[in-house]
Amino acid sequence: MINYFNTILDGIMNSRRIIAKENAEKDYRTILALHPTLKESVKQKKALELFIARATALKKPCEAEEKKLDELNKNISDYVKANNIVFSVKYNCPICKDSGYVNQKPCKCLLEEYGKLLKQNMSLTPLPEFYFKDNTFAKSNVPQAAGMNKLYKILEQVADKFYSTKLQNFLFSGASGIGKTCLAHAFANQLVSKNISVLYLSSFELVNIFLDKHTNKQTALRKIYNYVQECEMLIIDNLGVEPIYKNVTIEYLMSTIEKRLGEGKKTMICTQLDGHALINRYGEALLSKFADKKYSLSVGYINGEDLRKL
Ligand SMILES: [Zn+2]
Repeated sequence: MINYFNTILDGIMNSRRIIAKENAEKDYRTILALHPTLKESVKQKKALELFIARATALKKPCEAEEKKLDELNKNISDYVKANNIVFSVKYNCPICKDSGYVNQKPCKCLLEEYGKLLKQNMSLTPLPEFYFKDNTFAKSNVPQAAGMNKLYKILEQVADKFYSTKLQNFLFSGASGIGKTCLAHAFANQLVSKNISVLYLSSFELVNIFLDKHTNKQTALRKIYNYVQECEMLIIDNLGVEPIYKNVTIEYLMSTIEKRLGEGKKTMICTQLDGHALINRYGEALLSKFADKKYSLSVGYINGEDLRKL
Protein backbone atom coordinates (compact mmCIF):
# COMPACT_ATOMS: atom_id res chain seq x y z
CA MET A 1 0.00 0.00 0.00
CA ILE A 2 1.35 3.42 -0.89
CA ASN A 3 0.92 6.34 1.52
CA TYR A 4 -0.83 8.59 -0.98
CA PHE A 5 -4.33 7.62 0.21
CA ASN A 6 -3.55 7.41 3.94
CA THR A 7 -5.48 10.53 4.96
CA ILE A 8 -8.62 9.38 3.13
CA LEU A 9 -8.36 5.85 4.53
CA ASP A 10 -7.83 7.17 8.07
CA GLY A 11 -10.93 9.32 7.59
CA ILE A 12 -13.04 6.36 6.46
CA MET A 13 -11.94 4.17 9.39
CA ASN A 14 -12.33 7.00 11.86
CA SER A 15 -15.90 7.73 10.79
CA ARG A 16 -16.73 4.00 11.01
CA ARG A 17 -15.48 3.92 14.60
CA ILE A 18 -17.53 7.03 15.46
CA ILE A 19 -20.67 5.48 13.95
CA ALA A 20 -20.08 2.20 15.83
CA LYS A 21 -19.66 4.12 19.09
CA GLU A 22 -22.78 6.24 18.51
CA ASN A 23 -24.81 3.14 17.70
CA ALA A 24 -23.53 1.43 20.82
CA GLU A 25 -24.61 4.40 22.94
CA LYS A 26 -28.02 4.40 21.28
CA ASP A 27 -28.38 0.65 21.98
CA TYR A 28 -27.36 1.25 25.59
CA ARG A 29 -30.03 3.91 26.08
CA THR A 30 -32.65 1.64 24.45
CA ILE A 31 -31.73 -1.22 26.81
CA LEU A 32 -31.99 1.05 29.84
CA ALA A 33 -35.39 2.32 28.67
CA LEU A 34 -36.64 -1.29 28.47
CA HIS A 35 -35.29 -2.18 31.92
CA PRO A 36 -36.28 0.49 34.49
CA THR A 37 -34.71 -1.54 37.35
CA LEU A 38 -31.39 -1.55 35.55
CA LYS A 39 -31.73 2.12 34.71
CA GLU A 40 -32.25 2.95 38.36
CA SER A 41 -29.25 0.82 39.42
CA VAL A 42 -27.04 2.51 36.82
CA LYS A 43 -28.18 5.90 38.07
CA GLN A 44 -27.31 4.93 41.68
CA LYS A 45 -23.99 3.50 40.54
CA LYS A 46 -23.02 6.79 38.86
CA ALA A 47 -24.00 8.78 41.93
CA LEU A 48 -21.98 6.48 44.20
CA GLU A 49 -18.95 6.63 41.95
CA LEU A 50 -19.10 10.40 41.98
CA PHE A 51 -19.45 10.47 45.77
CA ILE A 52 -16.47 8.13 46.23
CA ALA A 53 -14.32 10.11 43.80
CA ARG A 54 -15.03 13.34 45.69
CA ALA A 55 -14.51 11.74 49.10
CA THR A 56 -11.20 10.23 47.96
CA ALA A 57 -10.03 13.59 46.63
CA LEU A 58 -10.92 15.23 49.94
CA LYS A 59 -9.44 12.28 51.88
CA LYS A 60 -12.76 11.64 53.62
CA PRO A 61 -13.83 8.14 54.65
CA CYS A 62 -16.25 6.36 52.28
CA GLU A 63 -16.01 2.64 53.16
CA ALA A 64 -19.78 2.31 53.43
CA GLU A 65 -20.30 3.74 49.95
CA GLU A 66 -17.56 1.54 48.51
CA LYS A 67 -19.26 -1.51 49.96
CA LYS A 68 -22.59 -0.34 48.57
CA LEU A 69 -21.01 0.14 45.13
CA ASP A 70 -19.61 -3.41 45.17
CA GLU A 71 -23.06 -4.77 45.97
CA LEU A 72 -24.66 -2.64 43.29
CA ASN A 73 -22.14 -3.77 40.67
CA LYS A 74 -22.89 -7.37 41.55
CA ASN A 75 -26.64 -6.74 41.31
CA ILE A 76 -26.24 -5.09 37.92
CA SER A 77 -24.11 -7.95 36.63
CA ASP A 78 -26.63 -10.53 37.93
CA TYR A 79 -29.51 -8.64 36.35
CA VAL A 80 -27.72 -8.38 33.00
CA LYS A 81 -26.97 -12.12 33.04
CA ALA A 82 -30.47 -13.11 34.15
CA ASN A 83 -32.07 -11.05 31.38
CA ASN A 84 -29.58 -12.02 28.64
CA ILE A 85 -28.69 -8.41 28.03
CA VAL A 86 -25.74 -7.97 25.67
CA PHE A 87 -23.84 -4.70 25.58
CA SER A 88 -21.67 -4.80 22.49
CA VAL A 89 -20.31 -2.42 19.91
CA LYS A 90 -21.32 -3.47 16.41
CA TYR A 91 -18.31 -2.69 14.26
CA ASN A 92 -18.53 -2.52 10.49
CA CYS A 93 -15.60 -4.95 10.54
CA PRO A 94 -15.50 -7.11 13.69
CA ILE A 95 -12.07 -8.50 12.67
CA CYS A 96 -10.19 -5.22 13.16
CA LYS A 97 -12.90 -3.35 15.12
CA ASP A 98 -12.75 -0.69 12.40
CA SER A 99 -9.13 0.12 13.17
CA GLY A 100 -8.09 -1.08 9.70
CA TYR A 101 -5.23 -3.16 11.07
CA VAL A 102 -4.72 -6.62 12.54
CA ASN A 103 -1.29 -7.29 14.08
CA GLN A 104 -0.04 -4.13 12.37
CA LYS A 105 -1.01 -5.54 8.97
CA PRO A 106 -3.76 -3.97 6.83
CA CYS A 107 -7.11 -5.66 7.42
CA LYS A 108 -9.19 -7.02 4.54
CA CYS A 109 -11.67 -4.15 4.98
CA LEU A 110 -8.90 -1.55 4.63
CA LEU A 111 -7.50 -3.23 1.52
CA GLU A 112 -10.99 -3.21 0.04
CA GLU A 113 -11.31 0.56 0.55
CA TYR A 114 -7.78 1.03 -0.78
CA GLY A 115 -8.71 -0.94 -3.90
CA LYS A 116 -11.76 1.28 -4.46
CA LEU A 117 -9.57 4.41 -4.22
CA LEU A 118 -7.05 2.94 -6.66
CA LYS A 119 -9.82 2.25 -9.15
CA GLN A 120 -11.31 5.73 -8.77
CA ASN A 121 -7.91 7.32 -9.29
CA MET A 122 -6.47 5.16 -12.06
CA SER A 123 -7.33 7.60 -14.84
CA LEU A 124 -8.94 10.98 -15.46
CA THR A 125 -11.81 9.46 -17.44
CA PRO A 126 -13.00 5.91 -16.70
CA LEU A 127 -11.13 3.27 -18.69
CA PRO A 128 -12.95 0.62 -20.73
CA GLU A 129 -13.34 -2.70 -18.90
CA PHE A 130 -10.76 -4.37 -21.10
CA TYR A 131 -8.58 -7.13 -19.62
CA PHE A 132 -5.85 -9.49 -20.73
CA LYS A 133 -8.46 -12.19 -21.23
CA ASP A 134 -10.05 -9.99 -23.90
CA ASN A 135 -6.90 -10.09 -26.05
CA THR A 136 -7.74 -11.66 -29.42
CA PHE A 137 -4.34 -11.32 -31.10
CA ALA A 138 -3.62 -15.05 -30.58
CA LYS A 139 -6.31 -15.86 -33.13
CA SER A 140 -5.79 -12.85 -35.37
CA ASN A 141 -4.10 -12.64 -38.78
CA VAL A 142 -3.17 -8.95 -38.74
CA PRO A 143 0.57 -8.36 -39.30
CA GLN A 144 1.13 -7.12 -35.75
CA ALA A 145 -0.69 -10.10 -34.16
CA ALA A 146 2.41 -12.06 -33.12
CA GLY A 147 4.20 -9.00 -31.75
CA MET A 148 1.19 -7.69 -29.88
CA ASN A 149 0.30 -11.11 -28.52
CA LYS A 150 3.83 -11.42 -27.15
CA LEU A 151 3.50 -8.03 -25.48
CA TYR A 152 0.26 -9.12 -23.83
CA LYS A 153 1.99 -12.22 -22.46
CA ILE A 154 4.96 -10.19 -21.18
CA LEU A 155 2.80 -7.60 -19.46
CA GLU A 156 0.65 -10.32 -17.90
CA GLN A 157 3.82 -11.71 -16.34
CA VAL A 158 4.91 -8.24 -15.23
CA ALA A 159 1.52 -7.81 -13.52
CA ASP A 160 1.91 -11.23 -11.83
CA LYS A 161 5.45 -10.53 -10.63
CA PHE A 162 5.06 -6.79 -10.23
CA TYR A 163 7.09 -6.46 -7.05
CA SER A 164 9.82 -8.93 -7.97
CA THR A 165 10.54 -8.04 -11.60
CA LYS A 166 13.57 -5.83 -12.16
CA LEU A 167 11.86 -4.16 -15.11
CA GLN A 168 10.97 -0.56 -14.36
CA ASN A 169 10.72 1.27 -17.66
CA PHE A 170 8.66 0.12 -20.61
CA LEU A 171 8.59 1.68 -24.07
CA PHE A 172 6.25 0.48 -26.78
CA SER A 173 6.58 2.17 -30.10
CA GLY A 174 4.35 1.41 -33.02
CA ALA A 175 2.09 2.70 -35.74
CA SER A 176 -1.19 4.36 -34.90
CA GLY A 177 -4.13 2.05 -34.23
CA ILE A 178 -2.25 -1.25 -33.89
CA GLY A 179 -3.66 -1.85 -30.40
CA LYS A 180 -1.22 -0.17 -28.00
CA THR A 181 -3.92 1.73 -26.11
CA CYS A 182 -6.03 -1.41 -25.57
CA LEU A 183 -2.92 -3.15 -24.27
CA ALA A 184 -2.29 -0.26 -21.87
CA HIS A 185 -5.93 -0.40 -20.69
CA ALA A 186 -5.72 -4.16 -20.09
CA PHE A 187 -2.48 -3.72 -18.16
CA ALA A 188 -3.89 -0.89 -16.02
CA ASN A 189 -7.08 -2.83 -15.25
CA GLN A 190 -5.08 -5.93 -14.36
CA LEU A 191 -2.81 -4.01 -11.97
CA VAL A 192 -5.65 -2.26 -10.21
CA SER A 193 -7.44 -5.60 -9.76
CA LYS A 194 -4.34 -6.65 -7.79
CA ASN A 195 -4.46 -3.51 -5.63
CA ILE A 196 -1.39 -2.06 -7.34
CA SER A 197 -1.51 1.73 -7.69
CA VAL A 198 -1.53 2.63 -11.36
CA LEU A 199 -2.19 5.88 -13.17
CA TYR A 200 -3.06 5.87 -16.86
CA LEU A 201 -2.77 9.23 -18.61
CA SER A 202 -2.68 10.39 -22.19
CA SER A 203 0.40 12.52 -22.87
CA PHE A 204 -1.98 15.44 -23.34
CA GLU A 205 -3.47 14.97 -19.85
CA LEU A 206 0.00 14.56 -18.37
CA VAL A 207 1.26 17.82 -19.85
CA ASN A 208 -1.79 19.67 -18.53
CA ILE A 209 -0.98 18.32 -15.06
CA PHE A 210 2.63 19.50 -15.46
CA LEU A 211 1.45 22.90 -16.66
CA ASP A 212 -0.86 23.39 -13.65
CA LYS A 213 1.99 22.37 -11.35
CA HIS A 214 4.41 24.74 -13.11
CA THR A 215 2.05 27.71 -12.93
CA ASN A 216 1.02 26.69 -9.40
CA LYS A 217 -2.68 26.62 -10.27
CA GLN A 218 -4.71 25.04 -7.48
CA THR A 219 -6.82 22.88 -9.75
CA ALA A 220 -7.97 19.25 -9.55
CA LEU A 221 -5.27 18.41 -12.10
CA ARG A 222 -2.63 20.07 -9.96
CA LYS A 223 -3.57 17.73 -7.10
CA ILE A 224 -2.93 14.69 -9.30
CA TYR A 225 0.69 15.79 -9.82
CA ASN A 226 1.76 14.05 -6.60
CA TYR A 227 0.05 10.86 -7.67
CA VAL A 228 1.95 11.02 -10.99
CA GLN A 229 5.11 10.90 -8.89
CA GLU A 230 3.96 8.40 -6.26
CA CYS A 231 1.89 5.73 -8.03
CA GLU A 232 3.65 2.40 -8.51
CA MET A 233 2.95 2.28 -12.26
CA LEU A 234 2.59 5.34 -14.47
CA ILE A 235 1.33 4.70 -17.99
CA ILE A 236 1.77 7.52 -20.49
CA ASP A 237 -0.20 6.82 -23.63
CA ASN A 238 0.39 8.35 -27.01
CA LEU A 239 3.51 10.30 -26.12
CA GLY A 240 4.39 12.64 -28.95
CA VAL A 241 1.03 14.27 -29.66
CA GLU A 242 1.11 16.62 -26.66
CA PRO A 243 2.12 20.26 -27.09
CA ILE A 244 5.71 21.17 -26.18
CA TYR A 245 5.57 23.99 -23.64
CA LYS A 246 8.89 25.66 -22.98
CA ASN A 247 10.37 24.65 -19.58
CA VAL A 248 7.44 22.32 -18.96
CA THR A 249 6.80 19.36 -21.27
CA ILE A 250 10.30 17.93 -21.64
CA GLU A 251 11.68 19.18 -18.30
CA TYR A 252 8.82 17.81 -16.17
CA LEU A 253 8.64 14.61 -18.20
CA MET A 254 12.34 13.91 -17.71
CA SER A 255 12.37 14.82 -14.03
CA THR A 256 9.30 12.64 -13.42
CA ILE A 257 10.84 9.65 -15.22
CA GLU A 258 14.17 10.09 -13.41
CA LYS A 259 12.56 10.51 -9.99
CA ARG A 260 10.37 7.46 -10.47
CA LEU A 261 13.28 5.37 -11.70
CA GLY A 262 15.33 6.42 -8.67
CA GLU A 263 12.51 5.42 -6.33
CA GLY A 264 12.02 2.01 -7.90
CA LYS A 265 8.70 2.93 -9.50
CA LYS A 266 7.65 1.75 -12.92
CA THR A 267 6.84 3.88 -15.95
CA MET A 268 5.40 2.85 -19.29
CA ILE A 269 5.33 4.89 -22.47
CA CYS A 270 3.29 4.07 -25.56
CA THR A 271 4.09 6.14 -28.61
CA GLN A 272 3.64 6.36 -32.34
CA LEU A 273 7.11 7.85 -32.65
CA ASP A 274 10.09 5.71 -33.58
CA GLY A 275 13.51 6.03 -31.94
CA HIS A 276 14.72 8.83 -34.21
CA ALA A 277 11.57 10.86 -33.80
CA LEU A 278 11.74 10.40 -30.00
CA ILE A 279 15.35 11.66 -29.94
CA ASN A 280 14.46 14.61 -32.14
CA ARG A 281 11.59 15.60 -29.94
CA TYR A 282 12.83 14.81 -26.41
CA GLY A 283 16.60 14.43 -26.76
CA GLU A 284 18.86 11.41 -26.21
CA ALA A 285 18.26 11.31 -22.45
CA LEU A 286 14.69 10.05 -22.66
CA LEU A 287 15.52 7.12 -24.92
CA SER A 288 18.59 6.18 -22.90
CA LYS A 289 16.36 5.75 -19.82
CA PHE A 290 14.35 3.16 -21.74
CA ALA A 291 17.26 1.47 -23.49
CA ASP A 292 19.15 -0.01 -20.53
CA LYS A 293 18.18 -3.68 -20.60
CA LYS A 294 18.87 -4.07 -16.85
CA TYR A 295 15.65 -2.31 -15.98
CA SER A 296 13.98 -1.51 -19.30
CA LEU A 297 11.85 -3.29 -21.82
CA SER A 298 11.74 -1.48 -25.11
CA VAL A 299 9.92 -2.74 -28.14
CA GLY A 300 11.02 -1.23 -31.40
CA TYR A 301 8.59 0.03 -33.94
CA ILE A 302 5.68 -2.33 -34.53
CA ASN A 303 3.93 -1.92 -37.83
CA GLY A 304 0.60 -3.35 -38.68
CA GLU A 305 -2.97 -2.77 -39.61
CA ASP A 306 -4.90 0.00 -38.01
CA LEU A 307 -7.44 -1.98 -35.98
CA ARG A 308 -9.73 0.99 -35.69
CA LYS A 309 -10.26 0.86 -39.45
CA LEU A 310 -11.03 -2.85 -39.58
ZN1 LIG B 1 -11.24 -4.83 9.20
